[in-house]
Amino acid sequence: MMPIFAPLKKIGMSIMTPLKRHKVKALLTSQEFEQSVRVCGWVKTQRTGKKFSFCELNDGSGLHNLQVVVDNALIAPEVLKRAATGAAVCIEGLLVKSQGKEQAVELQAQKLEILGEADGETYPLQKKAHSLEFLREQAHLRSRTNTFGAVFRLRNAVSYAIHHYFYQKGFVYVHTPIITASDTEGAGEMFAVTTLPLDNCPKLEGQVDWKQDFFERPAHLTVSGQLNAELAALGLGEVYTFGPTFRAENSNTTRHLAEFWMVEPEMAFYDLADNMALAEDFLKYLIRWTLDHNRADIDFLQENYEPGLVAKLEGVLASDFIRLDYTEAVSILQESGRQFEYPVQWGSDLQSEHERYLVEQHFGKPVIVINYPKDIKAFYMRLNADEKTVAAMDILFPGIGEIIGGSQREERPDVLLRRLHEMGLPEENYWWYLDTRRYGSAPHAGFGLGLERILMFITGMGNIRDVIPFPRTPGNAEF
Ligand code: ATP
Ligand code: MN
Repeated sequence: MMPIFAPLKKIGMSIMTPLKRHKVKALLTSQEFEQSVRVCGWVKTQRTGKKFSFCELNDGSGLHNLQVVVDNALIAPEVLKRAATGAAVCIEGLLVKSQGKEQAVELQAQKLEILGEADGETYPLQKKAHSLEFLREQAHLRSRTNTFGAVFRLRNAVSYAIHHYFYQKGFVYVHTPIITASDTEGAGEMFAVTTLPLDNCPKLEGQVDWKQDFFERPAHLTVSGQLNAELAALGLGEVYTFGPTFRAENSNTTRHLAEFWMVEPEMAFYDLADNMALAEDFLKYLIRWTLDHNRADIDFLQENYEPGLVAKLEGVLASDFIRLDYTEAVSILQESGRQFEYPVQWGSDLQSEHERYLVEQHFGKPVIVINYPKDIKAFYMRLNADEKTVAAMDILFPGIGEIIGGSQREERPDVLLRRLHEMGLPEENYWWYLDTRRYGSAPHAGFGLGLERILMFITGMGNIRDVIPFPRTPGNAEF
């Protein structure tokens, strides 16, 4: 019989986990069992014995390795030795019920093909557990570890769930540009995009002559797709954009990247309350999705990185997020008796220590802070009747701080124009944005969720550099 190619997932996920023993039974009685298979993967460990040798294989499809039993009479130990930890191999053999207790099935090897050797002297990922810091320097190889296998499978699952959530709700996925000529909102420092030679810029009256640049104007990498998403929402109703965004802030924190992925839904005919309801439902959906679809990965991360991870996730699912006025938040903080590093006063932005106090100490669950002072928020947020605050919302999560920032947008053309001027932004750059308020303006709202922030929460990883395959931070663009 021709050997069939079997991805380990089929073996690993459905019959190797002790939890799913009932599936083993079904398989044992089916014809699939005791059949020839050909399995490819990377060697995790191996050891040679007198009569039999063993190796464990993983192909990245799940956490569980396939136990391979090698009869030394069939495959010489010298050959197996070349299939050292890290080597890529293909093994043909018979899939049988395992003698051991650790796994349901094992592979009796008949033929071993070494695709790529890995020198035991220099291969950086030997069996011992490595620190996350060390693995960050080995980002080209870290996808092969259990930890990053689990994290990146979760990243995949969350990305898929994002599309799934909006698709089933009838939202339209719009692709917003990565290169922009509008300083979107002053959301952050921007990276310039230019083809002009830095050492010999064409000048006009002492200034850079942007007319000679590629776009004939200064251009940047986008810090947010929001303004474009708004244009789309005011025609398509409910839309979202999901893509990379860039911020050149020189902040070396565990929660900031220079390149990160953001999901930005934008909805016509939504007010702030609708916006909050959607955001809460959306976050819970993503968490529930990973618990339902990637439980083995989450359990692994709980065991190795964050004790109580599952309870934390389930806690969020079970809680109603607090809605809290900014003004009320300031009172709570001032009356807390806490000595904060940054003083709390009405009019200044909440610092991460303040956010964490509210979420972790005071309420013990996610908090949505709304109605911030207008001066610390973007020009497009809707001015409240008090003329002092805007209809903004930040969702704060335990251990993370801000996970979502959003608002109801200013739909009144006169107020919007006034706010633009107050913020010192050039009206002419926004003519197209203002047009949507001039013609058929409608109340609308939206928010931005940082993909890596929700992933930090779901994986228990404490550093944002460990939830994106190849992080970009100040001074770091290797790989
Ligand atoms: P923060 O106060 O945490 O710096 P922000 O207020 O600048 O964030 P927004 O402009 O509101 O962020 O962006 C929306 C969301 O994008 C944030 O709630 C967060 O989840 C995410 N985000 C913002 N900046 C970064 C960054 N540098 N790296 C990763 N995610 C980010
Ligand atoms: Mn924000």
